[in-house]
Amino acid sequence: MELIDSHCHLAKFQAEGVLDEVLDRAAAQDVSACIAVGTSEEDWIVYERMAKAYPQVHYTLGLHPCYVPEDNSWETSVNQLASFFTPGNPPVALGEIGLDHFHLPKDPIAAGKQIIAQEEAFKRQLAIAYQLDCPVIVHSRDSFDECVRCIDESGVNWERVVFHCFSGDTGQIQRLRQRGGRGSFTGIVTYKNAASVREALYAQGLDVLMLETDSPYLAPVPHRGQRNEPAYLRAMVEPCAEAFDLSVEAFAEKVTENTREFFGI
Ligand SMILES: [Zn+2]
Ligand SMILES: [Zn+2]
Repeated sequence: MELIDSHCHLAKFQAEGVLDEVLDRAAAQDVSACIAVGTSEEDWIVYERMAKAYPQVHYTLGLHPCYVPEDNSWETSVNQLASFFTPGNPPVALGEIGLDHFHLPKDPIAAGKQIIAQEEAFKRQLAIAYQLDCPVIVHSRDSFDECVRCIDESGVNWERVVFHCFSGDTGQIQRLRQRGGRGSFTGIVTYKNAASVREALYAQGLDVLMLETDSPYLAPVPHRGQRNEPAYLRAMVEPCAEAFDLSVEAFAEKVTENTREFFGI
């Protein structure tokens, strides 16, 4: 069996000197490749080098909405993005980018400024994705409608868009699918109180399904509460395969094929 963790953050593991162990534990659980997702200028170079050093690691670059400063200084970072997408060791997607209306400052004026800056940075990055015609990883928290509108307006090919860590409902997944987009799912689908997310996973169907850990966050049951890592992707496979009434092997083969196709790896 072969699995791919389609979204994880590995920089902390490397900084602590445990990345080799983490990747070994992943391989021992059949997670033979990982997509390491960039969030700000600080980790972009880290992931570019990591992907060069580890053949099983692919990387993506983007300015995460929670790292968008209120002033216009994000422009300097975003202006560098396209230069990474050149032959040799290019990122496999642009992201994660999007909107996050959950983690906003308490002060309403600061929050308003942050909302505007996030949207400008998101739109600018979507314009880059449109030019590059590359896959896009979207982070959307408490901002589903706004994210959909920005993508609609950008002209980006929806078939190349994934809403990562999808935690909405069936209605939202249908709106993504109508456009050609998709959601990818984390360990949340193993949580007892997440019935609506499981329904969304089932409603989306197998055709475009991808799984992710989003480690070091959101460890699936039975690891819930621990620091998450790519190896724990394995814990999601049984419950998901069961939902589709498939063998673990057949299910894994399909989601791995979907992930390879989406990222072109
Ligand atoms: Zn995210
Ligand atoms: Zn993430």
